[in-house]
Amino acid sequence: MIQLKSAREIELMAEGGRILAAAVQRVREAVRPGVSTLELDAVAEEFIRSHPGATPAFKGLYGFTGSICASINQEIVHGIPSKKRVLEQGDIISIDVGVAYRGYFTDSATTVPVGAVDPETARLLEVTERSLAAGIAAAVPGNHLGDIGAAVQQVVEGAGFSVVRDLVGHGIGVEFHEEPQVPNYGKPKRGLKLVPGLTIAIEPMVNVGGPMTRTLPDKWTIVTVDGSRSAHFEHTVAITENGNRVLTAA
Ligand code: MG
Ligand code: MG
Repeated sequence: MIQLKSAREIELMAEGGRILAAAVQRVREAVRPGVSTLELDAVAEEFIRSHPGATPAFKGLYGFTGSICASINQEIVHGIPSKKRVLEQGDIISIDVGVAYRGYFTDSATTVPVGAVDPETARLLEVTERSLAAGIAAAVPGNHLGDIGAAVQQVVEGAGFSVVRDLVGHGIGVEFHEEPQVPNYGKPKRGLKLVPGLTIAIEPMVNVGGPMTRTLPDKWTIVTVDGSRSAHFEHTVAITENGNRVLTAA
């Protein structure tokens, strides 16, 4: 069931989203060679909990132990924070964070270079972020879910990278994962029509190599089958009468 949100509900999501955006920024600033993903997790958790009414949404969600997902290099999503995972110069790390605030959820991710990265990796980050912007630009009333996916896919494949298909964006708000699914591929004018009040997480996951994925024995971490690097950017977006509102923008 798709749960459209009232203006009041979207305002609450925006309040939570502001806390989330600031938390992502704090973690981004803490990324450096030598830091562990568990230390980054603590930065996010402490920052979120310092805001009355806000809690890290991932902690305990489906049994996940972290407040962030921290996914390095060929890891696409759902990396478990660990003191054994220490960042090195030239790595990239996807930081995915969720906030629960006064009954509403928001979700956002960014991928950060650890110091200087090679040119192909830098291009992967730029293209993935640009594909998210294209998806958001297509998320307006009268368009369809397929317009979002097509916009993302065009940017990614136009740059010679591949879109992950096994994982998709999602409705969000009252529940962390709501209907509809929001694929990062598709055809214009296909799928659900977008209407004001729809709140969705748009989250392209982009691989340098092929799109195939597999799950590691820890049952969480999803990696590229070919070992190529992967990037992930995400915002929570509300469709409005006039267009849309990004609820997790800094
Ligand atoms: Mg997320
Ligand atoms: Mg999400």
